[in-house]
Amino acid sequence: MARVALVTGGSRGIGAAISVALKNAGYNVAANYAGNDEVAAKFKVETGIPVYKWSVADYEACAAGIRQVEADLGPVDILVNNAGITRDAMFHKMTREQWKEVIETNLSGVFNMTHPVWGGMRERKFGRVIIISSINGQKGQAGQTNYSASKAGDIGFTKALAQEGARAGITVNVICPGYIATDMVMAVPEKVREQIVAQIPTGRLGKPEEVGRCVVFLASDEAGFITGSTITANGGQYIV
Ligand code: NDP
Repeated sequence: MARVALVTGGSRGIGAAISVALKNAGYNVAANYAGNDEVAAKFKVETGIPVYKWSVADYEACAAGIRQVEADLGPVDILVNNAGITRDAMFHKMTREQWKEVIETNLSGVFNMTHPVWGGMRERKFGRVIIISSINGQKGQAGQTNYSASKAGDIGFTKALAQEGARAGITVNVICPGYIATDMVMAVPEKVREQIVAQIPTGRLGKPEEVGRCVVFLASDEAGFITGSTITANGGQYIV
């Protein structure tokens, strides 16, 4: 039977491309989303991938949502922690609310989603946890102390948990995309976007499908020796 993959924020942007790439690779995919019902319903009709609504920032909602996915599709073997938000402001203007929202979604959300599936993965001696961090978690970005901190935290989480999961056949890896053409980046003023593209050696924004391919690679049974890795997909913008 096909393995079950759950993608958070899987109904649009990079997450949608990941969901579709996993489906095309033969996985039984569930896509979580937060609140954009219209986009999620359209995505479901177009792809045939079931969608589930809850916030990754809410631990109880994650546990209940995962129970529902597992009742419908079977145990989650592959978890892609993709959901993420920005609430940009220069630090001297950043509110505690902007700080909290980003940390609770981008960092605590990864705990909230991974914790409920971890026991089952350990029992079944197989699991793939893949986290979508960011170039700005690697290099830092002015105006994004909250976002950069959350995404750097995701990298530390990955490195620690990979060591715990290795003997149980669970790999934990993180992908750091550079600037990808999604709603998140298209929301940036065009002038700023032009400045961003000028800093990318490939001379273009990345495509969501290019991140999807990385996820399919890491999710495969054959990728079992790759754990604790940070995969950089940024067109050469920041080389680590
Ligand atoms: P989008 O804003 O296009 O989509 C975000 C997705 O996350 C949506 O499906 C949204 O659901 C979901 N989401 C947001 N908050 C929550 C929540 N609390 N609970 C559950 N789902 C939630 O983002 P991108 O596709 O651009 O980004 C995806 C990931 O990639 C993020 O983690 C982002 O930080 C990261 N990234 C993006 C880059 C880029 O250039 N785009 C670069 C580097 C990293 P809904 O539709 O209901 O709002």
